[in-house]
Amino acid sequence: MRAITHVSIVTVDSDDSVIRDGMILIDGSTISYVGPMNESRITSDCDIRDCNGRFVAMPGLVDTHNHSSLIRGVDENLNLVDWLPVYDLEHRTCTPQDARQAYRLGYLECLLNGTTTVQDMHRFMDQAAQVAGAMGLRVFLAPYAADVPPYDFFETSESNEQLIREWHGSFNGRVQVEAGIEDVFYSSEEMYAEALRMHEKYGVRIHTHGPEHPEEESTAQARFGMSITQLLASRGMLGDFLSLGHCVPISHADMDLIAEAGASICHCPISAAKLGCGITPVKEMEEAGINVSLGSDGPIDNNSMDIFQEMKAASLLQKAKYHDASIFDARHMLRMATINGARSLGMEDSIGSLEVGKRADIILIGLDHPSLRPVCWNDDGTDTNLLWALVFAMQGTFVDTVIVDGNTVVEGGRLLTDDQGEILDSAQRQGEDWMRRRNAAADSILAPIRD
Ligand SMILES: [Zn+2]
Repeated sequence: MRAITHVSIVTVDSDDSVIRDGMILIDGSTISYVGPMNESRITSDCDIRDCNGRFVAMPGLVDTHNHSSLIRGVDENLNLVDWLPVYDLEHRTCTPQDARQAYRLGYLECLLNGTTTVQDMHRFMDQAAQVAGAMGLRVFLAPYAADVPPYDFFETSESNEQLIREWHGSFNGRVQVEAGIEDVFYSSEEMYAEALRMHEKYGVRIHTHGPEHPEEESTAQARFGMSITQLLASRGMLGDFLSLGHCVPISHADMDLIAEAGASICHCPISAAKLGCGITPVKEMEEAGINVSLGSDGPIDNNSMDIFQEMKAASLLQKAKYHDASIFDARHMLRMATINGARSLGMEDSIGSLEVGKRADIILIGLDHPSLRPVCWNDDGTDTNLLWALVFAMQGTFVDTVIVDGNTVVEGGRLLTDDQGEILDSAQRQGEDWMRRRNAAADSILAPIRD
């Protein structure tokens, strides 16, 4: 049994309860107590972490849309439709070693920033399973599957099924595999049918891209005679087993289809802004009854993976879009980054809040940073300005300790489960090598597209 004592707690339970002088007990991988300090519950064999009132505990953050990569800050100043062919270059030249080092670097970054669960879509994902398994991260792996020429260099339905057979549910359930699919332009109707078959056969979830840029919606109308969401519905994809990345341009009728099916939307506010896609109508999505979670979209376009930044950006963009300062407050944003993420992954009963019986995915944030002080509480200890600090004044690097499935994987802001310096050095070498190969391929691959 382990105890975290004298800690402020942001539970994100159904009442958004906060506790000023709190205590958390962890039994194996499970939370067995969350509440006010209660010395009588601490047993003599308990391993105690006394926070002395200088830390706040909250649920680990959930990044529900990510693409691991070693390439960042390279394909800049491009609108999504111009950016995609350039991004494809890295996939045409990606090797299992590139993917492995991308997972090592990316998962390190996520953990250090307090993210305990990542839904990742990339290539050679047996490497992701191994890396996340050993490092201690919780992952949902959705292979980039595509088969429409000239995009047939991605993963296949066969390699996706192989990944499910080998890795789904491994590492005490921390590694979950899904049926992953790029989008309706890269992937055929047959591939969607295969994803549905894998969902039915193995009980795995499905993750794919919804509409990202308005130009994609007009292309879909011209090519398929319907919206991307209608097309997904016609292929039987809309269900509570589905989470959809982005959905920036989307009609109210399409929102209703997604809401009725119980599917979730993974909102990536920084990526959508940076790629010139627009501001997602999250307020209207939520009013339609859709569960909306947050995602970083990975280093390739974001260029960082820090869900604290996504919370702040998402809130600011909605307030600005609707000219309404009263919407998307701190409690709302903390839910989007935690329990809504858990719901996007069908995990709301297991993670996403600090409650008895849930998996111990917990982060501790040090309060000894100028931008988090002074901390104030109301008289009865039911409200604190700390909630606003966590959304609007926070940096991922303030995260001190990260516990996933009851295991401490980061302490004092350092990874415990692997050599942090070696990960950075390996990523540097591999990244430079990958860039050389990518650039060498650029002329021969991009020239015909440009002409
Ligand atoms: Zn994406």
